[in-house]
Amino acid sequence: MPVRILLAEIKQETSVFNPRLTLYEDFHQAHGDDLLSARRGTDTEIAGALDVFSDAEEEILPIGGMGAWAVSGGPIRDSDLDRLIDEFTEAVTHHSDIDAVYFCLHGAMAGQQEGDPEGRILKRAHDVLGDTIPTVVSLDLHAIFTPLMHQNADVFVPFHTYPHTDQYETGRRSASALLRLIRGEATPTNARISLPMLVRGDELLTATGLFGDAIRMCQDVENSGSGLAAGVLIGNPFTDVPGLKSWVEITTNADQSLADQAAERIATFLWDQRERLEAELVSLETAISTSNNTQGLTVFSDAADATASGASGDSNAILSGLIGRSADVSSSFQGTALLSVVDAPAAHAATDAGVGASVEVSLGGTRDPGRFVPLPVTATVLSIHDGHFTYESGKPETAGATAVLRIATDNGHVDALVTERSVYVVGQAVFTSHGLDPASYDMVVAKSPNGFRTHYESIAAAILAVDVPGSTSANLHSLPFSRCPRPIFPLDEHVPTPAFVPEAPLPS
Ligand SMILES: [Zn+2]
Repeated sequence: MPVRILLAEIKQETSVFNPRLTLYEDFHQAHGDDLLSARRGTDTEIAGALDVFSDAEEEILPIGGMGAWAVSGGPIRDSDLDRLIDEFTEAVTHHSDIDAVYFCLHGAMAGQQEGDPEGRILKRAHDVLGDTIPTVVSLDLHAIFTPLMHQNADVFVPFHTYPHTDQYETGRRSASALLRLIRGEATPTNARISLPMLVRGDELLTATGLFGDAIRMCQDVENSGSGLAAGVLIGNPFTDVPGLKSWVEITTNADQSLADQAAERIATFLWDQRERLEAELVSLETAISTSNNTQGLTVFSDAADATASGASGDSNAILSGLIGRSADVSSSFQGTALLSVVDAPAAHAATDAGVGASVEVSLGGTRDPGRFVPLPVTATVLSIHDGHFTYESGKPETAGATAVLRIATDNGHVDALVTERSVYVVGQAVFTSHGLDPASYDMVVAKSPNGFRTHYESIAAAILAVDVPGSTSANLHSLPFSRCPRPIFPLDEHVPTPAFVPEAPLPS
């Protein structure tokens, strides 16, 4: 009899400061064998897990459950979240005769009211499966790692890289841990320490920053003879929910004291250096003049409108500065720029007008009107598209009606990729799929706090994190936090040092 392992996925990352709700129909879905075949051979967690299972010494039968994933965005409408969780649970119930489970989660979803969807998902799955089915869960390191999640699976395996480049490897680590549980080779012992801090900035880059030092300490534990999984979860700061904090999470094989000591050491290391974990931003004025004075490509990071972090994608703050319509900018941009904006009416107007037409449209402010005012422009339609493309990871995307608009400036032009739906603007594929080569511009805007670096560092002469408004601003003081536990660094001045005592171990 083969070992039957259920694989299922549900992912979205929420910024509660984005007013546009995420709906059921915003989720891509694949079920059963379709989920497995959609993932096989891609740069994803499930692909990594499938490869480990196919190489295992025992015969494994992977079984696809429900797969649902949406571009990061605003809170999920309550009724739609309930429906997704019901359907996810139904698919688990349908396969309740399985031997083990791998759940691939992001970990930072939120509903309009629900602050812990993943906790609810894991609790309901656990209620169906009982205590005897080994369950491993992989998480993005931006997960909100709540007690309800912690109590309802055996091992949690967080990403180790930021920017995230180890999705496939995280799936392999998860599958390897699950095989050890299935074979009876490991008994999870766990230590989880929470830290009242929200972190941002360049020190989070795992290749070069101090966060990477913490991750390497985790890897030493995970790769030791007694390790099962270890990582640091920093929460998505824009998922303002009651559970929002940061955590060190260590799971060992029957070695509680190793887990406790490692968690305390790594938590202390991060807490003591938290002042370094804040973003340094430059004004749009400075960014434009730096771009003007840079030979080669300058990349602006618009973390505030990072669709990858849950923002609305309809910011026109940088665009207005580039075309001389921002009161905050006196320098005139020189050269050519490439950026993106989500704007369904403009995308449809350009599509209707056709390639080569001159159009009068407004850009931006259709999804987060409290932050952005629609900006009227005259533009030439360079190209129109159906919006189907594939990210570098191998995941397909549907942007809806899509057009490239050129806006002339006194000293060059700005090309805007205008999409009907929100898309990730992290890698280059979102542009190259639409005939736009970022390397051929003087400046390009990535709507991403850090993930873009993987795709741009090799071609960028300068990279600047720009301080503009948005629902995922790295300037956390600019956002109206109301639900996360206080006091918390850096929102509050005096945050007592936490106890660094691991929370209660998992129920066995
Ligand atoms: Zn992340």
